[in-house]
Amino acid sequence: MINRVLSTTCILFSLIINAQESNLKALVGGTLIDGFGSNPIKNSVIIIEGEKIVSVGSMENTTIPSNAEIISTEGMSVLPGLWDMHVHTKLVGHSDYGYWDKVYQPLWKDVIMPASVHQLLMAGVTSARDLGAPLEASIAVRDAVNNGDIPGATLYVSGPFIQHKPYPGTENSRWGVDSPEDGRRKVKKLATAGVDVIKLIDHDQMTMDELRAVVDEAHKNNLKVVAHSHRPEEIRRGLEVGVDCFEHTGLSSAPRYPDDVMTMIKERTADMSQGPLFWCPTVEVLYNFEYNRDNLEFIDDDSWHLGLPDSVIVDIKNSVQHPDRLPYFQLMPSRKPTLETKINQLLDAGVVLMIGTDSGIPMKFHSQSTWHELDVWVNEFGIDPMYAIRGATYWPALWMGVADEVGTITPGKYADIIAVKGDVLRYISLLQDVDMVIKHGKRYK
Ligand SMILES: [Zn+2]
Repeated sequence: MINRVLSTTCILFSLIINAQESNLKALVGGTLIDGFGSNPIKNSVIIIEGEKIVSVGSMENTTIPSNAEIISTEGMSVLPGLWDMHVHTKLVGHSDYGYWDKVYQPLWKDVIMPASVHQLLMAGVTSARDLGAPLEASIAVRDAVNNGDIPGATLYVSGPFIQHKPYPGTENSRWGVDSPEDGRRKVKKLATAGVDVIKLIDHDQMTMDELRAVVDEAHKNNLKVVAHSHRPEEIRRGLEVGVDCFEHTGLSSAPRYPDDVMTMIKERTADMSQGPLFWCPTVEVLYNFEYNRDNLEFIDDDSWHLGLPDSVIVDIKNSVQHPDRLPYFQLMPSRKPTLETKINQLLDAGVVLMIGTDSGIPMKFHSQSTWHELDVWVNEFGIDPMYAIRGATYWPALWMGVADEVGTITPGKYADIIAVKGDVLRYISLLQDVDMVIKHGKRYK
């Protein structure tokens, strides 16, 4: 008996050694949504070697190497790690921006932003576009994740917003531009520092020459430009100068995008040579405000505490005790009825929508934001779940210029893979509790 136990232990031990030596993993059995949009692969097999996917198929046609560590995905949906194309890692749900900037800025780089990227990762978000934070902290946190120093979603960062004039006290996160030359100089500085993207806001207050200079300099440096797009003139000007991605479902409580804006959008989507026109509607925060205001239990979900000191958690909780009283949200009930119309206008015009959430703004926690947005798209606006998933996988990776590396599950890509029990194409909100998270071949959950 002892001998048998010993020899079994030895076999197990040598299997473990082999799996470690070979660095092979096999995800076996689940239904695979690869990110390309075709029918999922039933009884799928994904073989991972080190950081990369080496083969993808079904149990009938794929050989599983004998030394691979086998991870069962039976009963699960398996899909590419999610992307969130609009997050603010320097924010973690506190309701008062002025206070947050003043009191917590010293903690952003070493505490707050690392906590945010970790929370995103645990929520199945393996990549995120961070739009608007101090330059040095943005680069440092992105690089710390990439170097494996801290666990987190892979970040693509803009550093500071580019705009006409920063609001007092926000100068680290917002750089003002007062001439075309100044615009070029600031974009060059960001490019030299190594940002991944340029973020514009309030560009309807810049001169057209300044705006053109900023976008032109960004493109010269191989950087795409993302534009905040709440006001009609932000959209018109953005389209005119060739902005690469628009943010938010805008125009406040106005009922719909005006005809001239829609004509411009359709001119743009008709021009194949420029590629698709991308838009992150960040719609859930608007759509669910009244529900969230009246159902605060989600704030007691401790998933958003990960990595945050107790004092910060208490401070955030206190700040959102009375969401009905927060100035930030007062107009949202009037905006809500306009959202579906606007989303449909964009879809009808051929815009490619991507998942972005404004995660980090008041009551939007990084551990919850991304699945909330997916849920509203699918269950409130009737968007096809496969379209929604591609808006959180394939398209973001393509937009970011890394579609050869991530965003889909095919051989040669980094193994950024999540799995969740059940059928996400039928029940998208299952993504609120992702069972398995693998990033670059390493299992985090
Ligand atoms: Zn934002």
